[in-house]
Amino acid sequence: MDRSRTFEAIRDRAKPWDIVVIGGGATGVGCALDAVLRGLDVLLLEQHDFGKGTSSRSTKLIHGGVRYLAQGDLRLVREALSERSTLLRNAPHLVHTQEFVVPCYGKWEKLFYGTGLKIYDLLAGRKRIGRSKILTRLETIERLPTVSTEGLSGGILYHDGQFDDARMLIDIATTADGLGASLINYAKVQELLDDDRGSIVGVKFLDAETGEVHKAWSRTVINATGAFCDSIRKLADPGTHPVVTFAQGSHIVLERRFLPSNTALMIPKTGDGRVLFCIPWHEHVIIGTTDIPVAAAELEPEAQEAEIDFILRTAGGYLAIQPTRADILSVFAGIRPLIGRTGVETTAVLSRSHEIFVDRNLITITGGKWTTYRRMAEDAVNKAVEIGGLGATNGVTEKFTISSPEKIDGLPLHGRLPYTKGDVIRAVRHEMACTVEDVLARRTRALFLDAAAAIESAETVARIISEETSNTRYDATNDVESFQLVARAYLGNPRS
Ligand SMILES: Cc1cc2nc3c(=O)[nH]c(=O)nc-3n(C[C@H](O)[C@H](O)[C@H](O)COP(=O)(O)OP(=O)(O)OC[C@H]3O[C@@H](n4cnc5c(N)ncnc54)[C@H](O)[C@@H]3O)c2cc1C
Repeated sequence: MDRSRTFEAIRDRAKPWDIVVIGGGATGVGCALDAVLRGLDVLLLEQHDFGKGTSSRSTKLIHGGVRYLAQGDLRLVREALSERSTLLRNAPHLVHTQEFVVPCYGKWEKLFYGTGLKIYDLLAGRKRIGRSKILTRLETIERLPTVSTEGLSGGILYHDGQFDDARMLIDIATTADGLGASLINYAKVQELLDDDRGSIVGVKFLDAETGEVHKAWSRTVINATGAFCDSIRKLADPGTHPVVTFAQGSHIVLERRFLPSNTALMIPKTGDGRVLFCIPWHEHVIIGTTDIPVAAAELEPEAQEAEIDFILRTAGGYLAIQPTRADILSVFAGIRPLIGRTGVETTAVLSRSHEIFVDRNLITITGGKWTTYRRMAEDAVNKAVEIGGLGATNGVTEKFTISSPEKIDGLPLHGRLPYTKGDVIRAVRHEMACTVEDVLARRTRALFLDAAAAIESAETVARIISEETSNTRYDATNDVESFQLVARAYLGNPRS
């Protein structure tokens, strides 16, 4: 992926695009890949970096959603379980089967959760990725060596998928780019362009690197801006009613010693009636998530003190070693775009299904889950084909394999991080990383694993970007300062 080459392609373009996609989250890059595979000309515009929104801030699960099973949303669970098996096939280098154990503290819990997880297996049908099983107390402790043992009667073993969300997104983007799609980051859509019959025929966008405003003409426009989708819908129809409600979810990241195992721990009932996961991830443990209503979507939401305390308290109740504020290596928050009523007291009850809305001929796709991104993209492109009369064939992403740009060897970036300087070079040369944050938050996951180590790596990364970038305006000192400003909010204990 090369930003200046992509810009040249846009400038030289005489005919309209088939599809302009607004938003470079999971849904948007999924649309770009789906469209280019159907032979359509597609341009994707992302206002910040690819994955800056919710799609880099998930729990990293490709799952049916045990919680949605408890809520009785069987259609969503079945659809997501089917997508789980598709994604395990589409991106085997990024999505893997993960063992989970639900620890039980009483015989009724074993029966209750054991039955629920058998239903979860049944809903997956032939796409099941492992058989759930009741474990003895000893088997539970073997799998979860740091589980709290007081009153422990056993556990339930089950399976789901796990992945690296931002890495997957970047790989989908580079794969789409390699097939001929055009994707640009730091390109914010400001206006929709109309023809004299009142149809939307393109977008006006700002290139944040140069400050220039450009127009891109297109036969259809897909709005894949997640939690921001209502602001784009208002550009199409100022009188339109908002469809999205915002729910923030936060996670903390700890050292592996809190759960020194390849098995994840699932807490089936938190104080607010949800589930909480403690999951091994890149040699660390990620714990979350919360689910609280917030008033607005933000690009860089911050975890609230009460959310952090809730996660520490709830996880601490199930772990033999109690994590404290001082143990947190990173804390991050994301905003779920949920379709539903605004002003609800608890967003946990709102559905995670996706929906398409059409305002004039603007196609909005929102809601949903990372797990269902491929299906969402297929639905949105089907709608674009129908509305724009694009005459394209059916989607083929179900059987398509996503690839990664080749690794480049390099010396370690930082003693506490699993990345090399080669990873930074690859990010700048092949993955359109423009800033230190792009590299440390989304091309690598340094910021999410260990915020202090990421801050300590910033100058080295800026030096490599200076050497590799074709952007003559790049200012390393400024970039390091901007990164530090963002990264400080990820430090679990800013007072230490
Ligand atoms: C805490 C949390 C945990 C989750 N865990 C899971 C999980 O484990 N598994 C799962 O399946 N799902 C999970 N989800 C849900 C999943 O992460 C989201 O459904 C998904 O990432 C939404 O992707 P999206 O592309 O629709 O939105 P986003 O990723 O937010 O992308 C929208 C993009 O649009 C861009 N944009 C906005 N306005 C403009 C504009 N004017 N011009 C150009 N670009 C613009 C934004 O910058 C953003 O990058 C979780 C969500 C949260 C919040």
